[in-house]
Amino acid sequence: MPVVATEACRAADGLPLVSLHGVSKRFVTRGGGDVLALQHVTVDVFRDQFVSLVGPSGCGKSTLMKLVGGLTPASEGEVRLAGELVKRSSRMIGMVFQRPILLPWRSVLDNVLFPIEMLGWQTRQYREEAMRLIDLVGLHGFENARPNELSGGMQQRVSICRALVYDPQVMLMDEPFGALDAMTREDLSMEILRIWTEKKKTIVFVTHSIPEAVLLSDRVIVMTARPGQVVMDLAIDLARPRSLTTESLPAFSAYVQTIRDVISGKYKGASWQ
Ligand code: ADP
Ligand code: MG
Repeated sequence: MPVVATEACRAADGLPLVSLHGVSKRFVTRGGGDVLALQHVTVDVFRDQFVSLVGPSGCGKSTLMKLVGGLTPASEGEVRLAGELVKRSSRMIGMVFQRPILLPWRSVLDNVLFPIEMLGWQTRQYREEAMRLIDLVGLHGFENARPNELSGGMQQRVSICRALVYDPQVMLMDEPFGALDAMTREDLSMEILRIWTEKKKTIVFVTHSIPEAVLLSDRVIVMTARPGQVVMDLAIDLARPRSLTTESLPAFSAYVQTIRDVISGKYKGASWQ
């Protein structure tokens, strides 16, 4: 049976790499009203964890990612990265969004190197790493191609390389496979697991696919409809390395069902807190 995330998912050093404590976010809309997107959210993510966020559309998942990414401030509460309050975007963070947003006139290699230019670093020194990443995601031979010569899945692979090139500790991935077909999605999710293992990253991953969240994660955080609040933090105790065959395990289905029940309000298990 699924277990609940508490002490069991803490890293050995016990210090969260990403932490949100009592975080609320209120947006002022153009009409002058306001929208409470997140309310009293407290989440700690520990080094090297793979944590997924799931919840109904509009529950504040992207808002939470933007808070951690330093793209928008919290209205209340604290957001910290390695203990420091987040005030602006940080090189500790790499972000991947649903759409790859590549520069169409640049080659794959130059798109991957774009953040290095933005940071004012020497691109020459990062060429080798960029080529290694391009190989790692299976795009060997495409380094000089332009984005419009690539499929959607290949473009998303480029945006993953771009997020990794300056070696951030934390990857924030907001529905990165949302625009892809089912087979490409499966391929890429296995790729992400490989990258996560090989490069030792901490990943916060948003998906609307509950099976995808269970397959990839150490923990799945379930949020309620707006205002988004955390209703469950479920440790996924399935052996690694995982593969698509993991999905046929009875424990896998039990986790998926638990999360579905929580989202639909049918969960009858013990209180998770
Ligand atoms: P999710 O990613 O879970 O679908 P979002 O974080 O995008 O949800 O949005 C949460 C809520 O906050 C939604 O009701 C959305 O309309 C609102 N919201 C998000 N960004 C803004 C903004 N910049 N201005 C006003 N409202 C916003
Ligand atoms: Mg979103």
